[in-house]
Amino acid sequence: MFPETVSRGRNLIGRLKKGDDLLVSLTRVCIEGNLRLGKLQAIGAISKAKVGFYLQDKKEYVELDFDQNMEIIALQGNVSLKGGLPFIHAHVALMGSDGRVIGGHLMEGTEIFACEYILNEYIPDNEENFSRALDDETNLFLWPGV
Ligand code: ZN
Repeated sequence: MFPETVSRGRNLIGRLKKGDDLLVSLTRVCIEGNLRLGKLQAIGAISKAKVGFYLQDKKEYVELDFDQNMEIIALQGNVSLKGGLPFIHAHVALMGSDGRVIGGHLMEGTEIFACEYILNEYIPDNEENFSRALDDETNLFLWPGV
């Protein structure tokens, strides 16, 4: 039952490679580091972006593509298990050259120009509470422990 008290684990800090996919790269860091529950923050820049907006009535994501260079003003998210593997749910705010900010649910298809990330690991008493499962009400894979 939430909220659950968790213990602090490791802190992983690093930089991602130019040209790689942002979401895939961050997921790889978690898988290779066996980080199964945590907090994610990142800043940097991207050369193109794909973000999602969840249509609550249709229960599906609409994808938005931005084929332009932008700053990562804020990327924040969490790491938890989905299908037994670390899975990242992240939202991103991106700024174009005119200073305007767009954003959304980070999706594969966002290309890194530069990115510095910080991952804070948490250790739960019961990992199952943070293993994503399909929620019928929203059609999203959510934490089941409500
Ligand atoms: Zn989201």
